[in-house]
Amino acid sequence: MKLGILGGGQLGRMLAMAAHRLDVHPLVLDPKPDCSAAAVAPTLTAAWDDPSALDRLARCDVVTYEFENAPPAAVKGLADRVAVRPGPDALLHPGDRLLEKRMLRQLGISTARFCAVGSEADLRAAVAELGLPAVLKTRRLGYDGRGQRVLRRPEDLGPAWRELGAQELILEEFVAFEREVSLIAVRSREGSIRFWAPTENRHVDGILRISRAPAPGVDRSELRLPEAQVTALLEHLDYVGVLVVEFFVRDGRWIANEVACRVHNSGHWTLEGAVTSQFENHVRAVTGLPLGSTRCLEPCAMVNLIGRMPPAASVLSVAGARLHAYGKSGAPGRKLGHVTLAGAHWAETERQLAALLDRLDDPQLHEANGAPRR
Ligand code: AMP
Repeated sequence: MKLGILGGGQLGRMLAMAAHRLDVHPLVLDPKPDCSAAAVAPTLTAAWDDPSALDRLARCDVVTYEFENAPPAAVKGLADRVAVRPGPDALLHPGDRLLEKRMLRQLGISTARFCAVGSEADLRAAVAELGLPAVLKTRRLGYDGRGQRVLRRPEDLGPAWRELGAQELILEEFVAFEREVSLIAVRSREGSIRFWAPTENRHVDGILRISRAPAPGVDRSELRLPEAQVTALLEHLDYVGVLVVEFFVRDGRWIANEVACRVHNSGHWTLEGAVTSQFENHVRAVTGLPLGSTRCLEPCAMVNLIGRMPPAASVLSVAGARLHAYGKSGAPGRKLGHVTLAGAHWAETERQLAALLDRLDDPQLHEANGAPRR
């Protein structure tokens, strides 16, 4: 069985590693010759729409992707020749924040209030409607806090417009959330759906720094509604594979912020913390293999290594720490690896986390571990 993977970043790399274990042979396409997945899988170095690279991918049994922004024309062209999962229709809305939010609302899923912004006059009208603070975001290609600005005072509008106004935008009401929780789900080709434990995420400057699973303080009864909503979304999209919805939680209300039609950073803890990881279940789902159990084994924390890779020895001197390096060179804001921690109970996991944060000595990690903020 051959699995084509569009995208060779760390998600593509971890998908490829999971595929190898299942005797599924990955073939990656990425324009960057030194992409993270190239070290673990045969990789085609070519543009996303390169005809001969797409021909090679079309000879796989199935094609999947590690990110939603693969050019729709290339994905649609491939889907005419080979099974692409999740199907290209699933990519139509997620990836465009405006269409995505409209679709979520149609499915009865709460989101922050929002307005489309195509001009500076629209922006002023949107601020008049939603009030300040508000968050101005690009509709597409925004991730890790890129392509978004928080508007706090009227004076912030002009500079934010000058910075982002060349693209289509959306203005969102600012949600003063108590916590951010992602629900990670997988749907098989036959339509069976499984959820991993909910995951609490701490961001600084829009970048995920620390996750904890199962999200402390979230009980099963609270999950009933958001899990039903994610189920409705998966069924609406006739989705196959892993999908993640990030929610803001405020006063017991779950407000959907973003949908990822792929494996997701907040699910990295599942590599050691669940019976079957998000990567393995994604490969199982898209290749038609039976899904594995998503049961959480231990209370887990996951810490992203961003910008600069610490010496492996200092990470591994923390009891329980498992290091995942992505083989990337350092750059500010770049995700270079992650560490998973798991103890027999939360007190132990928290002790491990505190020891790791001491070793890493990164002020943003300490900030993330304090009060939640953006
Ligand atoms: P996003 O790219 O939409 O996932 O945003 C990255 C992070 O910015 C989120 O995880 C939140 O921490 C923060 N954020 C995004 N949108 C909002 C919002 N409407 N209100 C408050 N915080 C937000």
